[in-house]
Amino acid sequence: MTIKQLLKLAELNYTNRLYKSCPHLFIQVKSTPIKDPALLHINHELLNILEISPYEIEKSSFIKFINGDLDFEGLLFGSTYYSGHQFGYFVPKLGDGRALFLGEVTNSKGATFELQLKGSGPTPFSRMGDGRAVVRSSIREYLASAHLKALGVPTTEALAIIHGSDDVYREEVEKAAIVLRVAESFLRFGHLQYYAHSNQITELKSLLDFTIKTYFKNYSDHPNQYLLFFQDIVKKTAKLFASWQAIGFCHGVLNTDNMSILGLTIDYGPYGFIDSFDLDFICNHSDHEGRYSFGHQPAIGMWNLEQLGSTLKNFISEGDIKRTLESYPGLFHYEYRSLIKKKLGLYVNNANDDDIVQKTIKMLAITQIDYTQFFRLLSHYKKDDFSLPLTESEELKTFLQIYNERLIFEEISDQERNARMLLINPKFILRNYLAQMAIENYQANPLIFEEIFKVLTHPFEEWSDPDNNHENWSKPATSESARIIVSCSS
Ligand code: AMP
Ligand code: MG
Repeated sequence: MTIKQLLKLAELNYTNRLYKSCPHLFIQVKSTPIKDPALLHINHELLNILEISPYEIEKSSFIKFINGDLDFEGLLFGSTYYSGHQFGYFVPKLGDGRALFLGEVTNSKGATFELQLKGSGPTPFSRMGDGRAVVRSSIREYLASAHLKALGVPTTEALAIIHGSDDVYREEVEKAAIVLRVAESFLRFGHLQYYAHSNQITELKSLLDFTIKTYFKNYSDHPNQYLLFFQDIVKKTAKLFASWQAIGFCHGVLNTDNMSILGLTIDYGPYGFIDSFDLDFICNHSDHEGRYSFGHQPAIGMWNLEQLGSTLKNFISEGDIKRTLESYPGLFHYEYRSLIKKKLGLYVNNANDDDIVQKTIKMLAITQIDYTQFFRLLSHYKKDDFSLPLTESEELKTFLQIYNERLIFEEISDQERNARMLLINPKFILRNYLAQMAIENYQANPLIFEEIFKVLTHPFEEWSDPDNNHENWSKPATSESARIIVSCSS
């Protein structure tokens, strides 16, 4: 099947439900193709989920498709309106400045996927921007979204990247790329904010009704559908933020336009993963105040939900909005505690659960042991070992005493606990130097890029081949590679 046939076939499954229900959300835009487009990478696992066979793709057509270089009847290229609070300040008109919505496809299991291009040229929302994405930031988004997916964190995804010869001006001259992004929905808090702020209540209602009918089916037609919808987003957001905190992911730009209505990780920019536990870790060097530091994320989740809540005041009572928001801290802590308990291999509920979680975090903050390595090594811990091959520190020894005592309450064997822990405590995490290595090698040594992608999308694997087990990539950066500063420019 060629890509043309694919789209022909997709016509059967091809829908544009968002456009049909909310045409007011869109401005029709054509892409501006990049020059000399070439395929940088395809995510074959995702391709399979979309039920596109890699052997049936005609490469040149696929490239043209991602380059927005084909006219398909019935295929809308459109950018959407949205607003957003950027670093706490409301910007009424943002919108897709470099993204195009292509519609959605449905696979045979009934799962739907919106397709979106990022970096496909200017749109009426580009303001001073060029509508482009550079190879560096596109690779970072591509790798991180596939990696978080593999780690079990809800996220938007990327199906493929192409790169071209156009120069793009950032802090340096870089090359252009386009990412074909995929998600159940790319709707953001900012979409609802746009209509609420401009007082377009009919449009706001149609977008809300569409969202509930499509993505929150259980609540549609329920007399309290708007409240149930809000409660669900609060819950999904609490879960998302707890999963970031548990894995050590810092998003970097948690503006309300970068918050997904489905609780997905969206818009990867200057993100980072912590090495050692550090609440003050700031991955975005433009974030001078640390508004989006690692430790601040959960509170920012609440702040962003408050902004979302205020878009719903025509549909939900003030008291219900307030009470729903008040549920967030409890939901967040519940999720976070559950995740850290799983990372520790603790499954029995115990009155001291909060205590052991706190003690773990405190020990990690004091010892500055590598966060990912600690949990991976702990996944091999046997009762009464009282040591880990990490550091001789007294804090760790004391912690292991307490941990050992807590393990007595658990009902499963060391072997069973270890096996479960190895499935949730990754060996590999996307440290900045790995992303940088992928960026530096995508042309010169595509095999290295491929290997990095493979390791990041299978982060729990040991890779038992002693000559090729990527052991080095599981380690924290050396002091030299740790110096990589990530800018917001993308
Ligand atoms: P971000 O910080 O990437 O979430 O983007 C914030 C806003 O700026 C969104 O409306 C983007 O579409 C827009 N934007 C970011 N980069 C560009 C660019 N290179 N050209 C046009 N618009 C952009
Ligand atoms: Mg954004």
